[in-house]
Amino acid sequence: MSKSQPNHRIETQAVHLGNHGDATTGAVIPSIVMATTFERQPDYSAPSGFIYGRSQNPNRKALEETLAALEGGAIAYAFASGQAATNAAYQMLKAGDHVIAPAESYFGTRGLLQEIYDHLGLTYTFVDTSNLDAVRAAFTPQTKLVWVETPSNPTMTITDIRAVADLAHAHGALLAVDNTFASPIMQRPLSLGADFVMHSTTKFISGHTDVTGGALIFARIDDVSARAQLVQYLGGAVPSPFDCWLILRGIRTLALRVRQQATNALALAQFLADHPAVESVFYPGLASHRGHSIAASQMYGGFGGMLSVCVQGGAVEALKVAAQVQLFTRATSLGGIESLIEHRFSIEGPTSSTPPNLLRISVGIEHIDDLIQDIRQALHTLAL
Ligand SMILES: *Cc1c(COP(=O)(O)O)cnc(C)c1O
Repeated sequence: MSKSQPNHRIETQAVHLGNHGDATTGAVIPSIVMATTFERQPDYSAPSGFIYGRSQNPNRKALEETLAALEGGAIAYAFASGQAATNAAYQMLKAGDHVIAPAESYFGTRGLLQEIYDHLGLTYTFVDTSNLDAVRAAFTPQTKLVWVETPSNPTMTITDIRAVADLAHAHGALLAVDNTFASPIMQRPLSLGADFVMHSTTKFISGHTDVTGGALIFARIDDVSARAQLVQYLGGAVPSPFDCWLILRGIRTLALRVRQQATNALALAQFLADHPAVESVFYPGLASHRGHSIAASQMYGGFGGMLSVCVQGGAVEALKVAAQVQLFTRATSLGGIESLIEHRFSIEGPTSSTPPNLLRISVGIEHIDDLIQDIRQALHTLAL
């Protein structure tokens, strides 16, 4: 039996949830159940609830229970990637429905609408979701879903979740929040009125840069969550038992990791903000950030481990700094224990709206002095 109780704090739940032990061996952590099929009773009942690997698996069930509790939701569905989770959310809609999606977001959130669902008859409007008037103006009678990412990639735009939830509900639409950057340790959108949360569990949730996954977590069990279950089961983009086990193993240290990453990110952002080779810093924990006061009202315990910095100059100067780092790793992705630096413009190409002099940083759990020292020497190449 799991040692977790509903009244336990999130740190305790992260350590214990989904661990039902093993009555036969006394093993302290869950085993990985690789079976794709489960034996039925002579009367053909399945008292364990497990029938077939795609419909449910003990490791996936443990992960889903844990994610639901951490986000304060009623039920969660795990997917093989964050994109598979976003895809499932769009698949819950039907041709003719309209989606309000963020102009600034993970590029794949918009890409699915533009490249896949456009052909299948979904309509959509991209708006700056931090601008409530723009959101209000984007509703049509067909709007069924509003999608928000906060803080968002790459300039950490902050959207007022409660205000957008009220707008969505007044128009009979659902609000989904991509909570990948904040994690439930620093932001719980369902408590602010969102209807469901999406995670790329590839990032902070698993935290060790060794597994790809995603999830949708619903505030209520209703027709909407039932539709997500159908998409998961019939669509079949489910994570493997080992992937679920790795993600749950990562969750055990989620609270410690994310708090340290946020503490390091704030210190690094403050260092960068004062540096002469820096044009601007985007971090919601800085009072100078345009979303700071809303972030402070809806995030807690910190502002996450992601920041972006625009260096003085253009793409050449940004790439020079990225080329010079020794401790940071030049790589895409985020949320792992090691610090990464990325030139988004190079990844997104010439149509990108990301400033060419922007470097996105995923701050890890290394000692902050080592991180600052490395960035300082890298910025030194831009002798001004
Ligand atoms: C990475 C990411 C995604 C997509 O997740 P994958 O696991 O790569 O499919 C979606 N949203 C955000 C904010 C992300 O960082």
